[in-house]
Amino acid sequence: MISFWEKESFMQYHLIVIGSGIVGLSTAIEYKEKYPNKRVLILEKGILPSGASTKNAGFACFGSLTEICDDLENYSEEFVLQTVQKRYNGLQRLRQRVGDKNMDFYAYGGYELICKEQLFYLNQLHEVNDLLSPIFHQKVFLERGFKTPRFGFDDHQVKELLYNPLEGQIHTGKMMTALLKIARSKDIEILTGIEVKQLNEESKNVLITTDKKLEFKAEQVAVCVNAFASKLLPQYKIQPGRGQVVITKPIQNLPIEGTYHYDRGYYYFRNVGDRLLIGGGRHLAYEAETTTEFATTTQITQPINELLKEVILPGVDFEIEQEWSGIMGFGDKKEPIIEKLSDKIAVGIRMGGMGIAIGSEVGHELSNLI
Ligand SMILES: Cc1cc2nc3c(=O)[nH]c(=O)nc-3n(C[C@H](O)[C@H](O)[C@H](O)COP(=O)(O)OP(=O)(O)OC[C@H]3O[C@@H](n4cnc5c(N)ncnc54)[C@H](O)[C@@H]3O)c2cc1C
Repeated sequence: MISFWEKESFMQYHLIVIGSGIVGLSTAIEYKEKYPNKRVLILEKGILPSGASTKNAGFACFGSLTEICDDLENYSEEFVLQTVQKRYNGLQRLRQRVGDKNMDFYAYGGYELICKEQLFYLNQLHEVNDLLSPIFHQKVFLERGFKTPRFGFDDHQVKELLYNPLEGQIHTGKMMTALLKIARSKDIEILTGIEVKQLNEESKNVLITTDKKLEFKAEQVAVCVNAFASKLLPQYKIQPGRGQVVITKPIQNLPIEGTYHYDRGYYYFRNVGDRLLIGGGRHLAYEAETTTEFATTTQITQPINELLKEVILPGVDFEIEQEWSGIMGFGDKKEPIIEKLSDKIAVGIRMGGMGIAIGSEVGHELSNLI
C-alpha cells in the first residue's frame, strides 16, 4: 500500500524508459538533454542491467568483409550501406558521450581470419571497399598476407588475414558504468529489480504495472527491452539469441591484440589486456540458444576451447578464468525496430549482434520520436 506522498512524488513521470541497457540509457540521456525539466525514470528488472549491454564482447565494429558480402546476397546495396553507416554513427556518438578514456576504447584495428572455404570472398574486397567509400573515404579492408608472424594462428586452417584499421575495442563494464553515471548526473532516476508486466493507456498517461505491486504513470513510455520485448508486447516477434563468452586468465606474451572475426563471424575473439576473450558458436545449437535463459553449456564452450587450443593459440599455455552468457534480440529483418506504437508508447528493440555499435544511434532516433 503506498502513501499519498509516495503517489505524489515517486509514481508519476513525464517519461518512463523500460530497460537500462545501452538503448534505454541513451534514450533517457538524450531526452533529458533536450528537456532538462522533465522527470525521467528508468525501470530495470535486473539488479544490474541484465540483457546484453553488460555481457557483450566489446567490439567497436561495423561489419566484417564476409558479413557484408553475405548481407549483399540478401539485401540491397543501399540497405547494407545504411546499416554500416548507422553502426558507425552509433559508435561515434558513444565515443563522444562517454569519452574514449572512460571506456578503455583502443583503436587497435580489427582482423578477419579467412579459411580455405572463404577465400572466394576476397574477390569482392575491392567492390566492398568501393561501396563503403562514401562513409569512410578510405579503404576499410586490407589484405595483410598471412605471413604476419606474431599471431601464430594455425596455418592449416587460416589462409588469409584481413585488416580493418577502423575497428576498435571497449571495456563494456566501464562503458555501462559511465552511461549510468551520466544518467544520474542528469537527474534521471533509475529503479532496479522491478519488472514491468503490463502497459495500459489511459487518456493522459500510460499506466505501468510491475511485479512489485507498484504502479507508475507516465505521459510517455519508451520500451527498450530488446530480446525480452515479446513478453511485454506480444505483437513484436523478437527472437532471443543467447551468446556465450569465455575469458582466459592472463597469458604471458599474448600474441593477439585487437578484435578478430572467424568463420564468417560465427566466432569472435579479442584481447582484454593480456587475457583472451572469445565468444560465438551459436550456430552449433541454434534451437537451444534461442532462449532468454542465462547459462553456459558445454555444447558451445567445448568447441570454443578446442578452437582456442587448435587454431588461435596453438602451443600456448592458457587457463579459462570465467564463462558467461548474454541475450541478444533478433527478428526477420537485420535492423532495429524504432517506432511509435501509439501516441504515448515508443519502442527501440531488435538490436541483433551489434547493438553496442548501433545502440547510441537508436537512442538518438528514439528520443526524437518521443
Ligand atoms: C555475448 C554477446 C556479445 C556481443 N558482442 C557485441 C559486440 O562485441 N559489439 C556489439 O556492437 N554488440 C555486441 N553484442 C550485442 C549488444 O550487446 C546488444 O545488441 C545490445 O547490448 C542491446 O542493447 P539493448 O539496450 O537494446 O538491450 P539490453 O542490453 O538487453 O537491455 C535491455 C534491458 O531491459 C531489461 N528488461 C527486459 N524486460 C524488462 C521488463 N519487462 N521490465 C524492466 N526491464 C526489463 C533487461 O533486464 C535489460 O537490462 C553482443 C551481445 C552478446 C549477448
